[in-house]
Amino acid sequence: MELTELYGQLGISEAVIQFAKETESDLRPRFETVDQTAEYNQLKVIQAMQKARVSDIHFAGTTGYGYNDLGRDTLEAVYANAFHGEDALVRPQLISGTHALTVALSGNLRPGDEILSPVGKPYDTLEEVIGIRESVGSLKEFGITYRQTDLLADGSFDYEAIRGAVNERTKLVEIQRSKGYATRPTLSVKQIGELISFLKSLKPDVICMVDNCYGEFVETIEPTDVGADMIVGSLIKNPGGGLAPIGGYIVGRKDCIERAACRLTAPGLGKEVGASLGVSQSLYQGLFLAPSVVAGALKGAIFAANLYERLGFSVIPNGTESRHDIIQSIIFQKPEAVIRFCRGIQAAAPVDSFVTPEPWAMPGYDSDVIMAAGAFIQGSSIELSADAPMKPPYAVYFQGGLTWHHAKLGILMSLQKLYEANLIKL
Ligand SMILES: *Cc1c(COP(=O)(O)O)cnc(C)c1O
Repeated sequence: MELTELYGQLGISEAVIQFAKETESDLRPRFETVDQTAEYNQLKVIQAMQKARVSDIHFAGTTGYGYNDLGRDTLEAVYANAFHGEDALVRPQLISGTHALTVALSGNLRPGDEILSPVGKPYDTLEEVIGIRESVGSLKEFGITYRQTDLLADGSFDYEAIRGAVNERTKLVEIQRSKGYATRPTLSVKQIGELISFLKSLKPDVICMVDNCYGEFVETIEPTDVGADMIVGSLIKNPGGGLAPIGGYIVGRKDCIERAACRLTAPGLGKEVGASLGVSQSLYQGLFLAPSVVAGALKGAIFAANLYERLGFSVIPNGTESRHDIIQSIIFQKPEAVIRFCRGIQAAAPVDSFVTPEPWAMPGYDSDVIMAAGAFIQGSSIELSADAPMKPPYAVYFQGGLTWHHAKLGILMSLQKLYEANLIKL
């Protein structure tokens, strides 16, 4: 059977395939660059594992208190090595990215301290963690205040406003690398480094924490290479490589990690406890695969940007600009187009392809959200997934793909759904 015939059986029409073909061949040089980054990061991960002398004994799990969990402790050494930090906390007990960020923040802040976000509003779920939106148990309830400066219109840092915002109570700066559900540009690691240098020149002891979600392995350096005191992320995003069934990580300065660990477990217990149960092998193997999984996801994002740009939609990042995370947003301006797009992604999934996504009121978000995910791991967004808050400008945020060929099928299917609904002309 011809490839086009098989695509046809899956529901992709000839018109869509023809339209995509040219874009794909134009992208060969871009894909080559993505593969070079993956090659570098693959070596970095292997080197980190060799340095920690990873062995199959580390794949065994512990139970109960988890004292002397060799697999857990060695995995933390691997993360510290790979991301060039002094220490790491990598745990299945960190249940999500939001939880890992909460632990890093609440472990390192004390009553009377202030948090500064110099890059605009943080990710939606953090609004309740910090108390920007009232919430039970927020940092605000513990007497921790929050201040924010926004990016300038061109996406650069407002250095004057930042200078004015830093004060004697500023204890921690939260820098979100990825744009999340905003339409600002994602920050490059180099830009983050410049911001950190500026902040440290104003206040040398301020803790610079980077929300690294979706950024891992997109570049050859990470924020810890440019002065970040802590980087934080989710294992069901980039660094789990699609295999980690749960977990989060914090990598950075030893004292910061210690304080986070004492919050995650208990004062006096810190990193010494926390059984890895049976998940260690997936966390190691997922990290090992992560550089090439991220490369597949990046190719999908670049492909989508170029296809939808050709159709006249505005896309962030645009078709040609350099990438600093795996998220692609497409601004549709119409709720129907957002819904069709998500249904296309769902229909291309290996799991739950028969399900029809609908907008719903998801906890932690301030508007209805539609999500498409046919994932092996619930909520995993390193797997091909799309989500969109149902509010103007009706932008869809699309990310992941454990393999490039699956990402490609998902994007073709989204195009197909829009085409069938007469929302685009090919
Ligand atoms: C996904 C994400 C989070 C939160 O992660 P969850 O695992 O969904 O809780 C935080 N910040 C950014 C930038 C993210 O992309």
